[in-house]
Parts: sequence; C-alpha cells; structure tokens
Amino acid sequence: MTSKPPNRTPGGAPPAGPAALRRANLALMLRELRDHTSLSRAHIAKATGLHRATVSNLMAELLERRLVREIGVEHVGAVGRPRRAVALHGAHIGALGMEINVDYIAVHGTDLSGRVLVERRVVYDAMGSGPDNAVRRLGLVAKEAVEAMRRAGAVPTGIAVAVPGLVDVTRGVVTLAPNLYWHELPLAERLSSVLGPLSVPVRVDNDANLAALAEYTSGVAAGTPHLVYLTGEVGVGGGIISGGELLRGADGYSGEVGHLRVDPNGDQCGCGRIGCWETKVGLAALVRAAMPEQAYGLPGRPVPDPGERVADIARGLASGDRRMTMAVAQVGEWLGLGGSILANLFNPRVIVIGGYFASLAQWLLPHAQDQLQRLVVAAPTAQCRFVASTLGFGAASRGAASMVVNHIIDDPTTIMDSPPRPAPY
Ligand SMILES: [Zn+2]
Repeated sequence: MTSKPPNRTPGGAPPAGPAALRRANLALMLRELRDHTSLSRAHIAKATGLHRATVSNLMAELLERRLVREIGVEHVGAVGRPRRAVALHGAHIGALGMEINVDYIAVHGTDLSGRVLVERRVVYDAMGSGPDNAVRRLGLVAKEAVEAMRRAGAVPTGIAVAVPGLVDVTRGVVTLAPNLYWHELPLAERLSSVLGPLSVPVRVDNDANLAALAEYTSGVAAGTPHLVYLTGEVGVGGGIISGGELLRGADGYSGEVGHLRVDPNGDQCGCGRIGCWETKVGLAALVRAAMPEQAYGLPGRPVPDPGERVADIARGLASGDRRMTMAVAQVGEWLGLGGSILANLFNPRVIVIGGYFASLAQWLLPHAQDQLQRLVVAAPTAQCRFVASTLGFGAASRGAASMVVNHIIDDPTTIMDSPPRPAPY
C-alpha cells in the first residue's frame, strides 16, 4: 500500500478542520501499523511525518480503544535505548468477507489485525437457485459466521461480498452476473434487510478485484506493484494491480477478461456472446473435455463440490489419463494465449492464477508459459511469468475482509467515536 503524505486527505487536499485532521492522522498511523508487524512510536513519527507529541497523543487514544496494543520492547542497534513497540490489535472488531459463486459460498472473518476468526466454504447451487433464494442463503451463512466471530470475541463492523460479475460499487448493485443469472440485483440493500438487527454496512464488489487485493496484500506475489490476478472458476475474471493500485476503470467494470473474444467460431458464453475466453479456460470447459459424464448443467444431477471435481481431474492427470492430459494441455494453451493479451496490455511482472487454475498449476503452467513466451511482444525482456496462488478458493472472501479492514483504517473515528454498539441479538 502506498503511504500518503501527512496531514492530507486521500484526495490530497488539506483536511477541513481539527476533526478531519485527527481522522486523517489516525488513519495514517493505522496504515503504517497494518503494513508492518510492529513499530515504535518514533518509527511511526518518522514514517508518517507526524510530530512525536501528536503520535503519542493519538496512540494513547488508540490504546484506550484497544485498536493497538503494546507488544514489549524493540532494541535499536547495539547501544540504542530500548523502545516500546506497538502493533495493530482490535481483537474485538470484526471484518466479515464473503464470496458467492456459481457453486459455493465462502466466508472469511478476521479481526482488525487480520487474525482469522472464521473461514469456511459451503457448497451451494447459486446458479440454479435464483437471486431470492441465494440472498436468503447468503444471509443465513453470514449470521452463522457472525455468531462464530462473536464467540471469538469480535463484533463485525462491516460485511463485504464478492460476486462474479459487474458490480456498481457505489450503490452495492450487481449490474450483471451472467453465470448466476443475476441482473440489476440490489444485493447490499437486500442482504442488509435479511440481516435485519445486525445493522452493519454491507458492501459489494467484484470477486476478481477483491482476490487481486488479497494477492497484493498477502499472497504469493505480495507487494508486486504490477500484478494481474485471474480467477479460475466456472467463470473467469481478472483483477489488475498497476503501480500498486487496483485498476477499476470509469465505472468499476474493468477486469472482465473472461469475456475477451478469443474464438469467433467458438461456443456461446454465459454472457450470450460467442467465443469468450472463459468458454475455453473456465472450469466448465475443462470438465466437459476431461470428464464429459460430469459436465456442468446435465439435468437431474446434484451440484458436486468444485474442489472434488478438480481433485478427480488431478488424480487422473497424476495417473497419466490420456483424455485428461490432452484436455488440460489445451486449456493451458488457451490460458497462455489470453495471458499474453493481458501482458501486452499491462506489462505485469506476474500473472497470479487462482481457483482451479492454481490446483492444477503443475499441469497447466508449462503449456501456458510456452504460449506466453511465444505471444508477448516484449518477451523475453518483459519477464512476465505465471505463478499459482496459494490462497486457495478463499482468495476473494479474504480480499473482501481486508477491504472492510481498509475502510475501518481509512476512517477509524467511525468506530472510535460512536457509542458502544448494542449486542446484535
Ligand atoms: Zn462472455
């Protein structure tokens, strides 16, 4: 994360008054602490450019509110005076990240310091259930997660939901999620009303954008400022980090890489167009080629766990199954072809592949990397490589939780200055 100059609002203008100045300075200090394990007050003053006395005063407030904690002494040099260090704490403040996808709902709940309090994935046929049932089920899973977080001592202060589709982030409306058959769904409002007495803000964002954030903050290529993330589910989405910032475009709709047309004579996509990239590399395309008897959308069959489907394919590949080997080689080549378009556009250092792509990386990557080398104009000097995510299927929900944390850190006064919230139940 880039640090902002001291005493400035994120937009760069000086804060309007003492309250805004305090808010901006508290946020500066918390951002420093989020990006480091622990720091002394002197380090925070130096890194933020704030006066030592300002840091001490504000730190006293943060300690009193238990947003930070003293963690003992830090020795600077051989003869330096030991300094007391502090770290982000907030064990009583919960951030709930969720993801709804074609065949599962995932939750990732943390406290302010990122300590994981609840993490699970529930198999759910969101594609076949319709938006009303899906919102109700999402609400039930959220309530269970909130209960688990409360047992761990944290009260959620925000919920963010990752959705595989176009999201109007400002209004919390899913404009279009083709693989869920959702259109103009006011998800934030609907989920808030299902949650009722919880009354915490609900935000909605695109799954790949949130997963890209998770990769940038805590993934295998964490801190790489030019990074593309690809989700490999039934749908394929992308999140682009450029210069350390998430690229959103004019309306937040950037990263719809699954719908790049790569084959004008190809199959019809969930979005209604022909030959989109995800019809070549999405999980449904792989399953159809590798084990047609288990293809998505066959009538009268229960929805299998996506992890089990992928594990079946991995077992087949490990034992040298010819049909599966050919299917994965073909998907790998298409993966490299699409990746080369992104590399030509954005010049990333790494393309992190998540979801099922990561589970089958050892078989997919040789084919994908070959194509990338062949098709990227600036190769080999561009040094772009595919790497497999280590965050698993939970990347988007993890990113959603860290977005909630980021919102708290950007304006800590919302939780510091409000009276204690009554228990949600
Ligand atoms: Zn499409």
